[in-house]
Amino acid sequence: MNAAAPQFIEASSPHVMNTYGRVPIALSHGQGCRVWDINGKQYLDALAGIAVNTLGHNHPKLVPALQDQIAKLIHSSNYYHVPGQEQLAAKLVERSGMTNAFFCSTGLEANEAALKLARKFGHDKGIDRPEIVVYEKAFHGRSIATLSATGNEKVQKGFGPLVEGFIRVPLNDIDALKKATAGNPNVVAVFFETIQGEGGINPMRAEYLRQVRQLCDERDWLMMIDEVQCGMGRTGKWFAHQWAGITPDVMPLAKGLGSGVPIGAVVAGPKAANIFQPGNHGTTFGGNPLAMRAGLETIRIMEEDGLMANAAKVGAHLKGALERELAGHPGVKEIRGQGLMIGVELAKPCGVLVNRAAEAGLLLSVTADSVIRLVPALIMTEAEADEVVSLLVPLVRQFLAEA
Ligand SMILES: *Cc1c(COP(=O)(O)O)cnc(C)c1O
Repeated sequence: MNAAAPQFIEASSPHVMNTYGRVPIALSHGQGCRVWDINGKQYLDALAGIAVNTLGHNHPKLVPALQDQIAKLIHSSNYYHVPGQEQLAAKLVERSGMTNAFFCSTGLEANEAALKLARKFGHDKGIDRPEIVVYEKAFHGRSIATLSATGNEKVQKGFGPLVEGFIRVPLNDIDALKKATAGNPNVVAVFFETIQGEGGINPMRAEYLRQVRQLCDERDWLMMIDEVQCGMGRTGKWFAHQWAGITPDVMPLAKGLGSGVPIGAVVAGPKAANIFQPGNHGTTFGGNPLAMRAGLETIRIMEEDGLMANAAKVGAHLKGALERELAGHPGVKEIRGQGLMIGVELAKPCGVLVNRAAEAGLLLSVTADSVIRLVPALIMTEAEADEVVSLLVPLVRQFLAEA
């Protein structure tokens, strides 16, 4: 045990902007699916930095590769060719069945690039006021354009006027989509998450994805799928939409792509690959050698270690155990998700469970007010998944028993 007095974390920080209601702990280091705070308390990590730490913490293959890259070149700018960009783009297009990639540093930037692609796709066809279909409960980021595309008033409140040119529809309702776009020649794209993350782990049905694909083909719209959270192997396939056997025209990625190193990408198929020309889009940090190495090593290690199959297997195990313990329990509405992207929806807001779980030694999040979100590293074992269940279930039962 550490003899030093425990360090208390201030409830509010005097110099950091007050943008998060934070859990009152500070993490110091991690190993696999475990992390330790600055006072030495250990946690099982079922959040993985919000679906970011694909390989967990301190991965023995990733760390030396990143150290090697840092000693060679961290950043060079996009004034020069970056060989890692070509290598990572090749890996992403091979696994997605698409053709080209643009690299940036975050999810909202990848989505911003997708929105620009859709608008220019329209302008190139002579559509002066292009419109993009977006969804209820969607989350696409916090820039002005991506928060406008987001379907959550809390994210938008205080930041109007919003960007125009969005048409909002409900999930999984092809008739609603047809009706909302009927006779509108300005529609250029349909934009959604295969499994909504922040919106509460809400999956698009495979049948609906195929119907949207067909409609996009018939009407010459871009099918743009935000796989920032559900992509990169988390559901047991490289990209969650692949369960429906379809391929989008535009696919933003970020979160898990670099196992914690900031990285984003927008991957495009033939319909969208040549829309941007020199001068149309760019970024200072995007595609830097360190981020490219992180993406390349993440994919390499995932394949070497069979982590997609592991995500499918351990995810099914975790979901099965949660269903056995909680399904049908009064107050538990639904247990949803695929692979290691699981939501447990309760009948009442349950944000307090985040701090209670941390106290009990488990890191998780609550999203859409009442959905417990589990998005652990893809290296999680069945034994660790069992431990998640044994820590979480008593907290949920006790919470539901309270008035
Ligand atoms: C997290 C997230 C984003 C935003 O990514 P940032 O890196 O925070 O900008 C966009 N879309 C989805 C689906 C996300 O989960």
